Amino acid sequence: MSRYRLQPTPAQERVLLEHCGHARFVWNLAVEQHAHRKPGRKGAPGFAEQCRQLTQARAEFAWLRAGSIVVQQQALKGFAQAMADFFGKTHRRPTWRKRGRGEGLRVVAVEAGDVRRLSRKVGEVRIPKVGWVRLRWSRAVPEGVKSYRVTRDRAGRWHVTFAAVPEPVPAPDTGEVVGVDRGIAVSAALSTGELLKAPGLRDTEKARLLRLPRRLARAQRGSSRRAKVKAAIARLKARETDRSKDWVEKTSTSLARRFEVIAVEDLKIAGTTRSARGTVEAPGRNVGQEAGLNRGVLAAGWGRLVERLEHKAPGRIRKIDPRLTSQTCNARGHRAAESRQSQSRFRCLACGHQDNADASAARNIRDTAAGHAVAARGGSPLGGPVNREPQHDRLLVG
Ligand SMILES: [Zn+2]
Repeated sequence: MSRYRLQPTPAQERVLLEHCGHARFVWNLAVEQHAHRKPGRKGAPGFAEQCRQLTQARAEFAWLRAGSIVVQQQALKGFAQAMADFFGKTHRRPTWRKRGRGEGLRVVAVEAGDVRRLSRKVGEVRIPKVGWVRLRWSRAVPEGVKSYRVTRDRAGRWHVTFAAVPEPVPAPDTGEVVGVDRGIAVSAALSTGELLKAPGLRDTEKARLLRLPRRLARAQRGSSRRAKVKAAIARLKARETDRSKDWVEKTSTSLARRFEVIAVEDLKIAGTTRSARGTVEAPGRNVGQEAGLNRGVLAAGWGRLVERLEHKAPGRIRKIDPRLTSQTCNARGHRAAESRQSQSRFRCLACGHQDNADASAARNIRDTAAGHAVAARGGSPLGGPVNREPQHDRLLVG
């Protein structure tokens, strides 16, 4: 991840916060317009129309005009993308943004001279209407930066993330196909049997994160104690996200290096029809609480993993219809939802084949990618319906 800590001066921070405010304002305006859309009536305005409205709004309001049009247009662009993701069923519907939560701005049309290094550990980036802002040069900035995002996390730290597609990782010429399945207890299961777990928070940190909100409830509004507790919560959450991102980078590089073809479930299909897994009906102990704690991070981490794989292994990713991968016996193709007995156990009702449930799903994903159409095999020998369609999946966020 080419993410760097930004170190704005207090004066620069004020302008950055104004930018964030403008971005939030136009985003929320777009949310409103889409919320008032009624079925059967003319649709909400698209990106082009919204840009025209933005021009009008800037003509009308001096405070908006004083801001950067690049920042404001990019907020609209971000919203258009969020709506596309929503219709693509990979994300939730974009909602109202609140001050201090997920603040950020995006700058495009960045030129070669807009990022420069000053010394071994210090660099700077040019931000519209802010000027040169210092950044911690913690690693090399990628060549050919085309855009960047500036964000402020809930702990009040500023970061800049440069968008440059990472170099593809050379493929091994083994022809080996790996299936990767998203698990709950484990973050990813490989068809090789490996179960990869993203490092979340440690037990002591988790316990703290569960305790802090209660302390927050007891703290008086506006007190410095309350602010301290809030900052502590934000720091823990930021730490969790950082670890998840780091894991995604390492895992995607390693998979791209080790396997020629990488098969994953197709999230677009998964979003609509992913089956209710054994995990839902029979969650393992402590899974509920843990899943609740990590769900957002895991969901985001999974999307990011697939995205980074596509960058690092272009043309080597296969997306597989995930509908039956968790209930099909990998040994003989028997199919029954009941075969997935729990969070971690798969035991075929027809032949008794046993496996780790996540690894079994990963093997089915691999086999489908390799051309053995697992999910398309004949009906269940148990006499159940072939298209045993899944119930509502409470595990999916959005
Ligand atoms: Zn079987």
